[in-house]
Amino acid sequence: MNRVTITRPAYERLIQICLDKFPDEACGVLASYDKASSLTSEAAANQTVSEIIAVRNAAGTRVNSYTFDPTDWVAALYKIQRNRQTIAGFFHSHPTTPAAPSASDIEQWSGGTQTYAWIISLAKPGNPVIKAYRPQYSSAGELMFTEVSIHII
Ligand SMILES: [Zn+2]
Repeated sequence: MNRVTITRPAYERLIQICLDKFPDEACGVLASYDKASSLTSEAAANQTVSEIIAVRNAAGTRVNSYTFDPTDWVAALYKIQRNRQTIAGFFHSHPTTPAAPSASDIEQWSGGTQTYAWIISLAKPGNPVIKAYRPQYSSAGELMFTEVSIHII
């Protein structure tokens, strides 16, 4: 079950949104039309991401951090609710660093364990790298991100 599924158009749009915001970090939500049967990461893994909703980055220093713009975030939530979608994950880009979660990415994670963290690296020009991570708590109660494979349909 350690994989996530995304449609090809959504995958392409995800890359484009990040390229458009370069050299700033882009951020937003990955939405699905599939209903999660329960609030578990297994349920989220069975969802297909079919829409990407960009949220403005309101961080003071946007080249290496991101904060959801509150107005955009509320608008995204309304849109998801109106379209009867569910949140499958949250994304942000790393304009100049690899697609690995930074310490602050894990520290500031507020998506719980039922959504996935997607990171898009633009460090290699012309060759974006996308990775998805499953947030999980270790037995010691520490939040960890475990990489999962991305299945494009
Ligand atoms: Zn990051």
